[in-house]
Amino acid sequence: MQIPLVDLRRQYQNIKDEIDLAILNQIDKSEFIGGEAVKSFETNFSRYAGSQYCIGCANGTDAIELLLQALGIGKGDEVLVPAHTWISTSEAVTAVGATPVFVDCDPAFYTINIKKAKVTAKTKAVIVVHLYGLPAEMDEIVAFAEEHKLKLIEDCAQAHGALYKGKKVGTFGEGSTFSFYPGKNLGAYGDAGAVITDNAEIANSIRAVANHGQLKKHDHLVEGRNSRLDSIQASILNTKLKYIEEWTNKRIKIADYYSALLKEVNVKTPLKPNYSKHVYHIFAIQLMDKTRSKVMNHLIEKGIGVSVHYPKALPFLPPYNKNTSPDDFGEVYEYQEKIISLPIFPELTDTEIEYVVDTIKEIL
Ligand SMILES: *Cc1c(COP(=O)(O)O)cnc(C)c1O
Repeated sequence: MQIPLVDLRRQYQNIKDEIDLAILNQIDKSEFIGGEAVKSFETNFSRYAGSQYCIGCANGTDAIELLLQALGIGKGDEVLVPAHTWISTSEAVTAVGATPVFVDCDPAFYTINIKKAKVTAKTKAVIVVHLYGLPAEMDEIVAFAEEHKLKLIEDCAQAHGALYKGKKVGTFGEGSTFSFYPGKNLGAYGDAGAVITDNAEIANSIRAVANHGQLKKHDHLVEGRNSRLDSIQASILNTKLKYIEEWTNKRIKIADYYSALLKEVNVKTPLKPNYSKHVYHIFAIQLMDKTRSKVMNHLIEKGIGVSVHYPKALPFLPPYNKNTSPDDFGEVYEYQEKIISLPIFPELTDTEIEYVVDTIKEIL
């Protein structure tokens, strides 16, 4: 049996007529930048995400950069960033001229362990990443940000629709960012991203900067850049947004089934706090020490798409590793050797889940 890590084709085939129509309509109107599709997606997504404003942009990395810039973060500032995340989070900090300061992560949540954060006089902000789709521990993070007067940003690229104590992720701080990269829980057919915020001033500033510093054509308020959400992508996202809750519920069911079947195996399945809604962008498990390559090779041999998110935490990668010692990030240093990600996407069948788990059992 061949089971890819993610199968975008199955999803497309289920909604092909609607998607094709949306794309063709957009071409027929020949409205490619801005216009009704973008406006309508921004309205619909801000409603879905529980925020006042949504500003579409070119991708999720730009979204972080635009938000940091709008919050006045720049040269000389330090920004706290989880050690275990996709590199976009720290790249955006560097891009605005600030310095990412990594913080070790919790081995059960896989999110920032704020108790380990080192605040200095230069620390201006903290970026929380709800990695894999599980909300970080927001009560203590919000309290920490207030205590140290830090701006709070949530990188929700992996957590569309996730809830922490009944509240949507992305609504806890000054603003939040989303990626609509094709493989994300809500994905475009190319690159796309967005910032959400309740602050009109931040929203306007981002809207202007992302479109050459203008809110009205030829009225350049500042020197900006080009980071726009294009209209075909917006029309695709608008079409797919109607299904996001249904797809998320399927992901949760799949994760629950995996976790139930994996009970008989000596692996650590994802934490599921009863006060959070995990949206399982990634289904990562922890294996026993020194068994990973054996398990991965066997799964790959049996046609199963597996991956590691991520094989090396950021502080151990060349752009950042000059003065890194394993002790500085002891938790992630240990668990990064043990994690693997199993196939997950809404269309994954029970038979496929059973096959994946049986294949793991064969080798363990
Ligand atoms: C995908 C992702 C991003 C942004 O990705 P883009 O490819 O730029 O849209 C940012 N942060 C995290 C944690 C991500 O997973």
